[in-house]
Amino acid sequence: MKTIALEEHFVIPELVGYGASTGATQPPAAWQHMVNLLSDFLEHRIPTMDQGGLDMQVLSLNSPGIQAETDTQRAIHNAKLVNDFLKSLIEQHPTRFAGWAALPLQDPGAAADELERAVRDFGFCGANINGHCLGKYLDHPDFDVVWERAAALDVPIYLHPAPAPDVPHVFRGHEELLGPIWGWGVDTGTQALRLIFSKVFDRHPTAKLILGHMGELLPFSLWRLDSRWERDTHNGIELDLGRPSEYVRRNIYITTSGVASAQPLLAALLAMGSDHILLGTDYPFEDVRMMIDFLKNAPISMIDRSKIAHQNAEKILRIPA
Ligand code: MN
Repeated sequence: MKTIALEEHFVIPELVGYGASTGATQPPAAWQHMVNLLSDFLEHRIPTMDQGGLDMQVLSLNSPGIQAETDTQRAIHNAKLVNDFLKSLIEQHPTRFAGWAALPLQDPGAAADELERAVRDFGFCGANINGHCLGKYLDHPDFDVVWERAAALDVPIYLHPAPAPDVPHVFRGHEELLGPIWGWGVDTGTQALRLIFSKVFDRHPTAKLILGHMGELLPFSLWRLDSRWERDTHNGIELDLGRPSEYVRRNIYITTSGVASAQPLLAALLAMGSDHILLGTDYPFEDVRMMIDFLKNAPISMIDRSKIAHQNAEKILRIPA
């Protein structure tokens, strides 16, 4: 069974510093080990893929990436730098690597242009965006130009978590809740709902959003979202499709990244259908072999397994079969 994984991280030496906030959630030695793995492509990464049964990684700059840059011109420069690097890596290993563009959202027009350059000229699959950009989430009207361009190019945006712009009251005094253990999922799932309720998907009905980590808590919540949406005043907002779940099922795709557990996979399958679930490992933060073995042995049909393992990626990301 061919396997294409969509949440596979890397870094280049010039941009290691952007990861400081993510690294802060881990012991320093463990983070340094991760940086070494993120920076490597041939010595450890490809052998690990071979041993684990992973054919292709769609690579993204490690979180928070360019979004952490406070200088707009430097963000534009560094996005080009890392996308140019990724382009040449993919050219050398076209069957093993594909790419998500990093975007300088500090200048939304430049971000849209960089997305187009990466997709049209480099054959990238779309863009990877880590959380917010300096406190602005993707539903901000300034980013409509990016959604418009992504929809016109017919490429998805992969929304990956990043440290939140501030610490919400409920987390204060319990910083162990921040980061990938819990806070990232809440933040990213909430941002996906902000996109729905800001009517981004009403303005751009063909836009595609990909969420990692088995859907950042959303697949479990569809019935309750719809039920409360119907009862509540919902802030005066009216959705063209009526119910929030319609957008989750139409515009949102999820990956298995970082979740090797059958219960949430089965829940996601029932909630969203096998056409909207794709493979991700969250390399190097999870074990590739464990993630691939999980999918190979999961209690699902061979048809669904093939869609998740590679067919959906080939179709949505236009990766040659
Ligand atoms: Mn990740």
